[in-house]
Amino acid sequence: MSTYDVIVVGSGIAGMAACLNLARGGLRVLSIEAEASEEDPVGESLDWSSPDLLRALGLPMDRLIDEDIATYKRHVILRMPDGCEQHYVPGEWLAKRPWKVNLATIHVDRRRLNQALRNLVQEAGVVTRIARVASVESDGRHILALHTASGERLEARWYVDASGSAAALFPRHFRLPARDYGPHKVAIWDYFEVEESVEGTTLNADQPDCEYLEWVWQIPVHPHVVSVGYVARAETIRDDRRAGRSLEEIFATQLARFPELAAARDEKQRSGEPPTLRTTSFRCRVHNEAAGTNWLAVGESAAMVDPMTSNGVTAALRHAEEAASLILRAHRKNKTSLPRLGTWLYSRRIAALGHFFNSGIEKVIYDWPIRRRVGIARAGDVYTIPAWLMNLVYARMRPRGALKTALYTGITTLLRGSLSIFYWFSRRSRKSRRSASADAVCTIP
Ligand SMILES: Cc1cc2nc3c(=O)[nH]c(=O)nc-3n(C[C@H](O)[C@H](O)[C@H](O)COP(=O)(O)OP(=O)(O)OC[C@H]3O[C@@H](n4cnc5c(N)ncnc54)[C@H](O)[C@@H]3O)c2cc1C
Repeated sequence: MSTYDVIVVGSGIAGMAACLNLARGGLRVLSIEAEASEEDPVGESLDWSSPDLLRALGLPMDRLIDEDIATYKRHVILRMPDGCEQHYVPGEWLAKRPWKVNLATIHVDRRRLNQALRNLVQEAGVVTRIARVASVESDGRHILALHTASGERLEARWYVDASGSAAALFPRHFRLPARDYGPHKVAIWDYFEVEESVEGTTLNADQPDCEYLEWVWQIPVHPHVVSVGYVARAETIRDDRRAGRSLEEIFATQLARFPELAAARDEKQRSGEPPTLRTTSFRCRVHNEAAGTNWLAVGESAAMVDPMTSNGVTAALRHAEEAASLILRAHRKNKTSLPRLGTWLYSRRIAALGHFFNSGIEKVIYDWPIRRRVGIARAGDVYTIPAWLMNLVYARMRPRGALKTALYTGITTLLRGSLSIFYWFSRRSRKSRRSASADAVCTIP
């Protein structure tokens, strides 16, 4: 008999949340993580659904704020190089009955948040090991064991893949069908000290009228520290590098367009601090299946949504909670397999949300047709309102059974379809070739 009931591969936020849910449900959990020391974790600006999911794990928003792990995020600001801004703020009426929505969410210092989660994982009795899972031993869709790079064979009754988008261990092993969204992208980011920060995430649109949008995030992870990152197509960065420009120079050029960011960078340089630039590359991908007979994929291993949606952490926490509850149910009933309908519905929900967010952000914001037709500020509304509402509906509805899942995925498909028609229409329309950015609604803060 195996020592563990479940093995969780990867201890990013999805893996740690899965471990916590499973261990608190009474299972013996082994967590395997490839990296001995944490790289630079991303996922700092959280969606409005994240605080409740973190509270369920034992990390309420007030505690995160008090312990300087988080800062309030009350709105999202879209800023153009000319200083023009559009603010996306949830309406006050949502805070009243019957909705009673918390109008604030948070930005997080991911190192500190991960440490707080690791403490909880340890307290819950999860056994953690540093090892790289090199291969999966399976029979059909059933996993028999995992093999580590050092040659160890690890067995359990259930398995959870939280290995992130780059590894996507189980989906790759089982060659699961997937859809990619947008081009390969690169993020370059750094942290700057500031005297005061705003309680919101700022998305700086470099050239709002361009063919494919590239942007700079500004996330206050601490009242006096702001995370600043440039997201571009990998092709753009490659061309710049071929032209002999260093990553530092590429980053500096972007920041120079936004005086406040350029000043923060200059200040850091003057202080003589060594360069601390971080980079990562990624491609958004949604797997249409995320489970087998005795395993489930969670977080970015199952579906990676674009960083601009601020939805990766919410998705990871949701997947972890739902995957753990499927395993716990099967375990309590002493079943040898996970329920077929339950895992199928799980995959449908993950795919529906992944496709909805990625397709929306690519068609409405990144690509040119809708953005040029209605202007970037209104395009922001076209994306943000349905995305925000669908997250709220998910949090309230908690779709699990067949009926609710069908209803929820049906609505997301309908919205996706409507956006696709609008995109097609905007692309076709000659008018869309004329820049509409001049019509952008400006809200001066
Ligand atoms: C540039 C960027 C910015 C982002 N910004 C935001 C944001 O503002 N808000 C938001 O909500 N989301 C954001 N996201 C998304 C968010 O960071 C992720 O969705 C979230 O962190 C979930 O990650 P995860 O746990 O699924 O995977 P990861 O954090 O990638 O964790 C996977 C873990 O698995 C380990 N692993 C991999 N392979 C193996 C193996 N073979 N054996 C053992 N261990 C293995 C890895 O070492 C890693 O620790 C952003 C993403 C990117 C790329």
